[in-house]
Amino acid sequence: MQSKFFFLACLCLLVFTQCNYAQPKAAATNSEPSSVGKIELPDPKKMTKIVKSDEEWRTLLGEETYRVLRQGGTECAFTGSYWNNKENGIYLCAGCQLPLFESAAKFESGTGWPSFYQPIKKGYIEEKLDLSHNMKRIEITCARCGGHLGHVFDDGPKPTGLRYCVNSASLTFEKKQ
Ligand SMILES: [Zn+2]
Repeated sequence: MQSKFFFLACLCLLVFTQCNYAQPKAAATNSEPSSVGKIELPDPKKMTKIVKSDEEWRTLLGEETYRVLRQGGTECAFTGSYWNNKENGIYLCAGCQLPLFESAAKFESGTGWPSFYQPIKKGYIEEKLDLSHNMKRIEITCARCGGHLGHVFDDGPKPTGLRYCVNSASLTFEKKQ
């Protein structure tokens, strides 16, 4: 009798545990779209990293994009192509064309650099502590090609409170039709 009770208790525990595991997974799938318009959004966990030699990047990218994207440079504020862009569309990595930000998440930060409160998918952006120039900042890079995008700060607007401060040179823009 006792062993029967023990068996039933184990079974209940197993079902309960499985349910608990299943719920967050389902929620995560729903909140992560697989495309934006016609642009496919690859699964960050299955993405193949793009690796090129320094010489290949130098040939592929223009001088300013190479300096910012591959050498961690920063463009001068209010000089890039997109800080004041208000058009509807998608911002892609200038190195590998991974869709990074939607115009819906862009906001007026007053900094002179394109600013977003969230990326299209969190897994598309990698973060790294940057202690250069006597500052403590979080550098953001493209998760697929490793290109330098800018920095993320915690003084952004709702709903995330984050400010992804990105160089225009690290981005290309695709207007929504
Ligand atoms: Zn990239």
